[in-house]
Amino acid sequence: SLPVIYAITPTYTRLVQKAELTRLANTFLHVPNLHWIVVEDSNKTSSLVSHLLQSTGLNHTHLHVATPLKFKVRGGMKLKPPRGTLQRNLGLQWLRQAFSANDSQQGVVYFADDDNTYSLELFEEMRFTTKVSVWPVAFVGSLLYESPKVNSSGKVYGWRVLFDPRRPFAIDMAGFAVNLKLILTKPQASFKLTDVKPGYQESSLLTDLVSLGDLEPKASNCTKVLVWHTRTQNPLLRKNITGFVDVIGEV
Ligand code: UDP
Ligand code: MN
Repeated sequence: SLPVIYAITPTYTRLVQKAELTRLANTFLHVPNLHWIVVEDSNKTSSLVSHLLQSTGLNHTHLHVATPLKFKVRGGMKLKPPRGTLQRNLGLQWLRQAFSANDSQQGVVYFADDDNTYSLELFEEMRFTTKVSVWPVAFVGSLLYESPKVNSSGKVYGWRVLFDPRRPFAIDMAGFAVNLKLILTKPQASFKLTDVKPGYQESSLLTDLVSLGDLEPKASNCTKVLVWHTRTQNPLLRKNITGFVDVIGEV
């Protein structure tokens, strides 16, 4: 049977959360053999998210872990901490508890932020990933798209990026997927929350998992854009938000 795609989505309470998750669910409903691991950045799971997940009928797991205040992005911070880090790590931890390293379950793990735009083709490109597959991501790093550089033998040898091309893996979270077995056989591999320079979050996980030469370029040798790092504008409200429980849940 088809390898299962485990999509790990960190998410947090805000005006557009239900809209983002609705849009993402509508995408995932078109993807066969997908298991959605939704990890709320909060002290408890919310009824808004659990009702939404139930109503989709998707295979899912609903988790939560709150980012400590000192790691939350605030104004006037010298070094902005990465977002969604503890949530993605909890997703990895859940997988490691659900499956043993010699489990026969074939799968691939993808970190799907709630605000990006995903083509359906993307999921079929990543589904048969041996170690780590990679592809371009649009609208990120001050470029129309960032991409792994692929040589004539189909090997990744560098990064088409503006920001710090010397990063070990200069790739956005949306630009790679990892074989489930690799996650299970490298139980220490995780995203680092402290001492990560901006743009190094992805590298902090990937250096635990693979070398550059292991990367598998997808999307026609990284010539196609199948995912867009879109960002949603916060709605501008001129009225108090009380009474909008159906939109934003109980705050
Ligand atoms: N996120 C989170 N807690 C936060 C901020 C963001 O869980 O305090 C989630 C968010 O829902 C998204 C991911 O982390 O799925 C990345 O955040 P965001 O899209 O804001 O980052 P950007 O795309 O701007 O780098
Ligand atoms: Mn985003």
